[in-house]
Amino acid sequence: MGHVMQISADCFVHAGIACMSCRDACPEQAIAMQPRIGAPFLPRIDTASCTGCAACSASCPADAIMAVKRETEEREVEDA
Ligand code: SF4
Ligand code: SF4
Repeated sequence: MGHVMQISADCFVHAGIACMSCRDACPEQAIAMQPRIGAPFLPRIDTASCTGCAACSASCPADAIMAVKRETEEREVEDA
């Protein structure tokens, strides 16, 4: 796909609220939760594994996950 998902600052963990809905929803295991000291785990999307299926976006209670253009494909277009 020509896009991947990106997590915005609206994600609950930035407000100190633990959430792993997106990680649990991803069929590709492309979202890892990064441990942090004194704060909820931070979701990180592995863009190489992300297929852009949007299951994470649909599961996010904060509406914090959106599609962005995949950078590698942008470069390929520019190189063409
Ligand atoms: S778009 Fe799909 S594959 Fe990519 S992180 Fe979200 S659930 Fe996983
Ligand atoms: S589901 Fe949404 S609010 Fe929850 S960790 Fe993922 S991006 Fe943050």
